[in-house]
Amino acid sequence: MSRKYNHFETSVIHEGYDAKDMLGSLATPLFQTSTYTFTSAEQGERRFAGEEDGYIYSRLGNPTVTVLEERIAALENGERGLAFGSGMAAVSAVLIALTKAGDHILCSSGLYGCTFGLLTMMKEKYNIDHDFSAMESKEMIRSLIRPETTCIYVETPINPTMKLIDLEMVVEVAREFDIPVVVDNTFSSPYLQRPLELGCDVVIHSATKYIGGHGDVIAGLVVGKKDFLDSVAMTTQKDIGGIISPFDAWLLLRGLKTLPIRIDRHCDNAEKIVERLKTHPNVSNVYYPNDETNPDFPIMQKQMKRGGGVISFDIVGDKADAQQFLNKLSFLKIAVSLGDAETLIEHPATMTHAVVPQESRMEMEITDQLIRLSVGLEAWEDIWADVEQALNQL
Ligand SMILES: *Cc1c(COP(=O)(O)O)cnc(C)c1O
Repeated sequence: MSRKYNHFETSVIHEGYDAKDMLGSLATPLFQTSTYTFTSAEQGERRFAGEEDGYIYSRLGNPTVTVLEERIAALENGERGLAFGSGMAAVSAVLIALTKAGDHILCSSGLYGCTFGLLTMMKEKYNIDHDFSAMESKEMIRSLIRPETTCIYVETPINPTMKLIDLEMVVEVAREFDIPVVVDNTFSSPYLQRPLELGCDVVIHSATKYIGGHGDVIAGLVVGKKDFLDSVAMTTQKDIGGIISPFDAWLLLRGLKTLPIRIDRHCDNAEKIVERLKTHPNVSNVYYPNDETNPDFPIMQKQMKRGGGVISFDIVGDKADAQQFLNKLSFLKIAVSLGDAETLIEHPATMTHAVVPQESRMEMEITDQLIRLSVGLEAWEDIWADVEQALNQL
């Protein structure tokens, strides 16, 4: 689906929906229905045979969900979108579709904890192997590609270390071997980064985060070429069944309308907090893509519009100090997830990345004193005041 409107800010509100198709309703109607009636037995036969367009059963398609799928496809500049019941339903549907027993997946070193868990399960149960690579150069990537590699799977920015991977470089190597590149674009949202425009093949979102934006939905989205997504829709989505509910699709359509405004505010706030964290004596390292002192800053300038709303930092001290810091916060919320209106703060080593074995965690540079901060939409002065008073108590 190419975008119908010239500006992203207009697309988030209008793509994929025409009120005149829906009795003039301004808001996308919520089709809270499981099945669709046929006017005759022959029509049912034609629908199942794919000879006639139309809805059959909501696991195979729902009009509210269709609007969301068309909108996200347009926003990512992809041919087709698919919605899922969670980010992990989306990740698993894509990875299972791209692999069979004996295959190999090359991943960025640093992945969402449950994606790491899924890869471990795929290896143990189905003999689908994987390797991790920092992907800092073409040689580094090439050296780990095998004849059985069927997918390169990348997160950038990497959760929670906020390291970046140069997507154009990954695509150049992938093309040499004709391997698809899948990008988890959750941390950026399509407003900040559009991997398909850089030549990547598939984009995945945990829509739970910035796309929903209000901490009230768990959902996933996938965008890519029509052929591949048609096959996902008819196999791993239909038969494993991790579909989204129509109501959650409706909430995401509502959240998307304010995506650019929210993300700009998240970025404005994050930039202010980063400046201050960098000068605090109880903070030893600050990781944020849009920071000139960050070695990945040139990559951020190449492929991201801004740095996003997530900051990670090491506090001076150990795990107990990290936990004490969290306990001293007054109104900022200790919680995993990110991208909500509320500032959320967590301890990756014991929370989001607790499933990752200690040794792999160290390789990923997830130290015991690393804190992940998802900067919310509150006044940055209030966010900083709370962080600062808790840091001062260390
Ligand atoms: C949250 C998250 C996921 C998983 O999404 P769910 O909606 O929680 O299933 C995957 N990747 C990243 C980067 C995430 O932050």
